[in-house]
Amino acid sequence: MTVKQWKRIILATIVLIIVITTSCALFFGINYVALSKTKEPAEELFKAMESGDIDVREYENLVKFLKNTDTETGFSYQNLYEDLYVDNDFEYVTLENKTCYLTFDDGPNPQVTPKVLDTLKKYDVKATFFVVYQDSEECRKLYKRIVDEGHTLALHTASHNYNQIYSSVDAYIEDFNKINRHVEEITGVKPEIFRFPGGSLNSYNKGIYRELISEMVRRGYTYYDWNVSSGDAASRILTSNEIRKNVVNSDSEITGKIVLMHDGPGHGNTADALEGIILGLKKQGYSFAPLTKDIKPAVFGY
Ligand code: ZN
Repeated sequence: MTVKQWKRIILATIVLIIVITTSCALFFGINYVALSKTKEPAEELFKAMESGDIDVREYENLVKFLKNTDTETGFSYQNLYEDLYVDNDFEYVTLENKTCYLTFDDGPNPQVTPKVLDTLKKYDVKATFFVVYQDSEECRKLYKRIVDEGHTLALHTASHNYNQIYSSVDAYIEDFNKINRHVEEITGVKPEIFRFPGGSLNSYNKGIYRELISEMVRRGYTYYDWNVSSGDAASRILTSNEIRKNVVNSDSEITGKIVLMHDGPGHGNTADALEGIILGLKKQGYSFAPLTKDIKPAVFGY
């Protein structure tokens, strides 16, 4: 080939490369813009969710949106567990002023839960129990006792294994279905509210929490974080006096208090603190109520 021919070939190759590169850039660029445009409504909902004051049932719009626009994700979990739905046709009421909603996570436990129930009974206080899976005869009786004594039986988790339940939305729902069926079979009550282990946003569920919350809300469930912590799950074991003080001296600006406590193994100090907590809050003019699904949840700001 002559030098001229070589030059032509090189020139043609360069032109071809330019054409291909530009086409690719345009194609992917346009698609990228289109994609980010279609994602916008979801982003808006995510932001509203992050601000913490969104009505949780609006998450359903997010789910619908995602389902329509991102079919590749599949959302196969939406077809799982056809019974795992509760009625969500109701209006939320805000947390009652000067009302305290005592909540107990991680029970039932044969050493702790009976003490808690005895104290609640003594003062005719109703509370909420976010329970885990236990199958001993003693624990089966405790699930029933919670219901019989007028408290709200709510769901926490079957396994309480963060790595397992937060590995995917499917895994979470599978676990949730297990604890739901268990307590319904024992008590005849189908719980309608729940609490995420570690709260609705934690270091384990970061990658899936929006999708997970959306799916749980789509199924009609209301979840509760808390606005007062007793500190009874801190790495250092607190005395009952410290636990009592954490609750009784909590921010007086919070007039509808959802108090996080635990009645799982090793939480005897919480059971011991309960009487002082009830008396202390009563002195401040608080009354007590169990959580019901129409009480607007305390949800963490994201
Ligand atoms: Zn827990």
